[in-house]
Amino acid sequence: MTEGVVLSVAVETPRYSAVGGLLDYASEQTLPPGTLVRVPLGRRDMPGLVWQRPAHAGLPPAELRPLAAVVSSLPPLADEWRELIDFAAAYYQRGVGELALAVLPPDLRKLDDTRLARRLARLQRDPVAADRAADEAAALSARPELNEEQAAALVAIGAADKPVLLHGVTGSGKTEVYLRAAEEVLQRGRQALVLVPEINLTPQLEARFAERFPGHVMVSLHSGLTPAQRLRHWLLAHLGRADLVLGTRLAVFASMPRLGLVVVDEEHDPSFKQQEGARYSARDLAVWRAHRLGVTVLLGSATPSLETWQRALEGRYLRLALDRRIGGGVMPAVKLVDMTRLPRETQQERVLAPPLLGAITERIERGEQSLLLLNRRGYAPVLHCSACGWKSGCPHCSAWRVFHKADRTLRCHHCGLTERVPRACPDCGNLDIAPLGRGTEKLQEQLTALLPGARVARLDADSTRGAGELQQQLGAVHAGEVDVLVGTQMLAKGHDFRRVTLVAAVNPDTALFSSDFRAPERLFALLMQAAGRAGRDATQAARSEMWVQTWHPRHPLYAALKAHDYGAYAAAQLAERRAAGLPPFASLALLRAEARTADVARAFLHDASALVAPREGVTVYPPVPPPVAKVADVERMQMLLESPSRVVLQRMLAAWLPGLHELRAQHKGLLRWAVDVDPLAI
Ligand SMILES: [Zn+2]
Ligand SMILES: [Zn+2]
Repeated sequence: MTEGVVLSVAVETPRYSAVGGLLDYASEQTLPPGTLVRVPLGRRDMPGLVWQRPAHAGLPPAELRPLAAVVSSLPPLADEWRELIDFAAAYYQRGVGELALAVLPPDLRKLDDTRLARRLARLQRDPVAADRAADEAAALSARPELNEEQAAALVAIGAADKPVLLHGVTGSGKTEVYLRAAEEVLQRGRQALVLVPEINLTPQLEARFAERFPGHVMVSLHSGLTPAQRLRHWLLAHLGRADLVLGTRLAVFASMPRLGLVVVDEEHDPSFKQQEGARYSARDLAVWRAHRLGVTVLLGSATPSLETWQRALEGRYLRLALDRRIGGGVMPAVKLVDMTRLPRETQQERVLAPPLLGAITERIERGEQSLLLLNRRGYAPVLHCSACGWKSGCPHCSAWRVFHKADRTLRCHHCGLTERVPRACPDCGNLDIAPLGRGTEKLQEQLTALLPGARVARLDADSTRGAGELQQQLGAVHAGEVDVLVGTQMLAKGHDFRRVTLVAAVNPDTALFSSDFRAPERLFALLMQAAGRAGRDATQAARSEMWVQTWHPRHPLYAALKAHDYGAYAAAQLAERRAAGLPPFASLALLRAEARTADVARAFLHDASALVAPREGVTVYPPVPPPVAKVADVERMQMLLESPSRVVLQRMLAAWLPGLHELRAQHKGLLRWAVDVDPLAI
């Protein structure tokens, strides 16, 4: 090729290669940045995105490989979208090409220009709901009146020039505020993006938006879609045909040319943080993206993350409060059961304290429902031999295998290893091996025995494995076919149970003394959320109760819960975090390493720490194993980096990474390594 231009293309290069993901190719014609292309890499053809015309004086076009194909039917991705990717890749220390291609629908990367052109033509022909404008007018005229707090919040949102924290207790009508804010944006011809933490929560919210805006096109984006659906939805958003995009964390990367509003519901939820590959926080990226575009971002929560709360205290976010529940419901009274006051011999064995059991019995007699939370699925966390002390450990992980009684298996919740329960102790042959501790399965069994005639159901990851099982079980609860529902934290999230007047946390204390500094914050959010499940119906609100069984009834966390006082709890936690130099008062990153032996992983981290210059303003802690160090025969180690300044930490990481790529070559046994910026668990 004699004539032509050089284009810098974002390509998904093999993981952890030192190539940043931008490669130069020759092209006969200049192409706008954001154009989808196919390029040769090694012997393969790969999808790529034209990123920029390189500013540096690289090789002339004649010495570069030419593009393999141009997918010209797809309108180029916008500058704004590429800036988001550039920022996220730099911040989370990943390659631009890796991230850019990873967040596109898988099918988009496979289709050639002809087939994609056909798909696009079909989408353009699709009838858009224009003829349903009358339905929408009717839906809008029938929408509920806002209360004073909601109306004031909406006015403030309209005038806000910074991110908005919508701090509202469960049932205070945050969703109605989202709907009104979206309505205003749709009227201006812009698109709205709504992020939720879990797929399970999308159907309810989708239904509310669809009901309110039948004249607009709404699509969802989450990992539960088929590849064809995901491509179709993504294209509708990218072409600007979809006005509303609702999705989980990956939707933060949706291409939306007319984006005018971003909503992050339950912004405190850990699900917004991606836990593999580029470990991004969709919440934080949503804030960045909205700020960059100059559009409003709404962060909604009853128990905001301490990071968000601190920013609101500093005035960087605007805090709007919804303190009252819609329809006059009140938050349930919180009752702490002091387990230390039960007779000593029965403390551990007793399922529920007698007063709690009595309160549940009363509910059953009145035809009301109770929810019991126990954050441990399976029947018992471990099987135990009383003769030799054998316990049902996993041979491949540093964890116990959990006893599941329903199918008589021992299952490792980390690597998935599942085996039949042995008849006798594998070590000494003793026939008397017994379960230790209690999971949801056992709690359900015990309650069934304690409450004769009561209908006791269970909801957890095991009981909802099959397609549609969750919706079916929730349907049974709503239909009143269940008296007592036992389950994991899955129960506490989002579901709107009208007949529930009692919620109980059976054994929440473990999180109080966890090595993870965020565990208490999560426990508080979980309990507040769980409490919010009760008393949503005003007629039942007065007799709604939240029970907490605890061996530490005077713990400040429970005192704040009793008062439904998030602010007091946050103030106490923030004071502790400030004193300990933890987020939001410091920035953290983890370097994780995985190898067949702990020594190999530790040696890599050790050498990595030697690459950090001592005066960089970043504290590097010694390598330590995470709480579950071995999973599926892979040993994991991690090393914490801490700095009072985010900028300093970012600068250090960027300078450090090339050295790490080189270092990896010297540690043969190393399987994987990764940097986790703003880790959620340490
Ligand atoms: Zn034994
Ligand atoms: Zn295992």
